[in-house]
Amino acid sequence: MSNSISTVFDLPGRFYRGNLHTHTTMSDGTLSPAELADAYRSEGYHFVVASDHFWERHGWPITDTRDVRTPDFTTLIGAELHAPQTKFWEVWHLLAVGLPLDFAPPDKNETGPELARRAAATGAFIGLAHPAWYALTVEDADTIDVAHAVEVYNHTSEVGFGKGDSWSLMDILLARGRKLTAFAADDAHFRTPDAFGGWVQVKARTLCPDALLAALKAGHYYSSQGPEIHHIDVGLDSIVVSCSPAWNIIASWQGKFASRSIGYGQTEAKLDRRALGDADYFIVTVVDESGRKAWSNPIWLKGRS
Ligand SMILES: [Zn+2]
Ligand SMILES: [Zn+2]
Repeated sequence: MSNSISTVFDLPGRFYRGNLHTHTTMSDGTLSPAELADAYRSEGYHFVVASDHFWERHGWPITDTRDVRTPDFTTLIGAELHAPQTKFWEVWHLLAVGLPLDFAPPDKNETGPELARRAAATGAFIGLAHPAWYALTVEDADTIDVAHAVEVYNHTSEVGFGKGDSWSLMDILLARGRKLTAFAADDAHFRTPDAFGGWVQVKARTLCPDALLAALKAGHYYSSQGPEIHHIDVGLDSIVVSCSPAWNIIASWQGKFASRSIGYGQTEAKLDRRALGDADYFIVTVVDESGRKAWSNPIWLKGRS
């Protein structure tokens, strides 16, 4: 049965694979911006963001990667923003993608929420970086009212600390009414094998920074550690997912509300939408035989602004 719920998979354009969060020699990474672009290009990516730490010790860098762009590989300008101070001892870690190169350093009194608002006002996509890694509380996360997204998987936090997964915070924020999207990223510094473990697939008409940024802000993307999601068809009673070969294909809302299809080598699954109860959104998770996952963004079934 046809339906009125369209997803990113129904939009025109194609998917471009990118990494939104990495560090170069402009802060505490080990690759130059040009080496970073080469590394990601050779792994089959279409774009990367050199999101260097925007703080005094590195001279407030907004890394200019425009000169490493080629017709088949681009960059967005971004940074990881810091300001004092979250509930637990730490400075804020906020990812901003699409910043202007002349974004001004914060003064000493600017708080995390204020810094995020100033970055968002320039048109940037704002993400809560690696919440699990620094025990970001729901109360703190709620103060970043301009956030577009939660970094639900951070590969460096996983490789270095075993704390890459921040879906728990994402679920709580969704349940509290925040309409956020979910992205995976490397946060690679290239000192350990911390690259190519989590990425976004962004749907856009062209590989240009403005189109990618608009798509990110609109939530026109999905995230992956490996699997590909090809399509999600939302019917009245069923949800049909097609994907690369998977071991488990799941549509989930909160708690017990989920439908799944388990079995080796599945490339399509018809899931029971009625198992989602009165859900106002659901998320599709695709798991391959190695345990690597891909996640859709929340797919909204009812209006929520
Ligand atoms: Zn960080
Ligand atoms: Zn980082």
